Amino acid sequence: MKYGLIADIHGNLEALQVVLAELRDEGIDQYICLGDVVGYGADPNECLELVKGLEPVIIAGNHDWASVGKTDISYFNPSAREAVLWTRNQLTKENMDYLRNLRLTEEFKNFVVVHSTLVSPQTWGYILTISDAKASFAHQTRQLCFIGHSHQPVIVMEDGDGNCEALPGFSLELPQGHRYIVNIGSVGQPRDGDPRAAFALYDTPSKQVEVKRVEYDIKLAQDKIIRAGLPRNLALRLEYGR
Ligand code: ZN
Repeated sequence: MKYGLIADIHGNLEALQVVLAELRDEGIDQYICLGDVVGYGADPNECLELVKGLEPVIIAGNHDWASVGKTDISYFNPSAREAVLWTRNQLTKENMDYLRNLRLTEEFKNFVVVHSTLVSPQTWGYILTISDAKASFAHQTRQLCFIGHSHQPVIVMEDGDGNCEALPGFSLELPQGHRYIVNIGSVGQPRDGDPRAAFALYDTPSKQVEVKRVEYDIKLAQDKIIRAGLPRNLALRLEYGR
């Protein structure tokens, strides 16, 4: 089985189109979307239509639920809050229902997916440190956990004795007896200093996991954000990947 994983698209149609073209060439058997299809970018409905067309296993992100009034936005920064309210006005009734009905986690044979962390997924905590990772591993019964949310790709390993470390690089072959948290990065708003769109592949026969990057038309995505009247910093940050 070959899985194609995407997360944190955030209404960036230009990035999503390029990522999906890459995944088509990979011959994906099952698509998985780790949430935040909307919020920040100018094309929330268009992105949702493309994602729905993949017939994915999909879970909720905080922006998805915020956009349908299902999560508190008082802790969002001002730009994020403005984008959520803008998105709420754009979404079709059908897409609002779709987002409202998303679940928080899904389990597979040897992996689980969650947008934020397995520690209380509905409160949208981040895994940014080794101690955050350890807390999530304590709830992880499968070998692998794929996450999004921070927009920063990273692979964290737990060696079976409770020792955790962030691994260098973005690909691995899964050895027995180790567990992993894989943050697959963001399609539509990367924040690791690399502005290219991120996505991931998981091939079960070869036990290979890989986070990949691809360039897209950042200028066009920026122009649309500005023309939509969304905060300008949401356009600017795309070219820095911050
Ligand atoms: Zn996000």
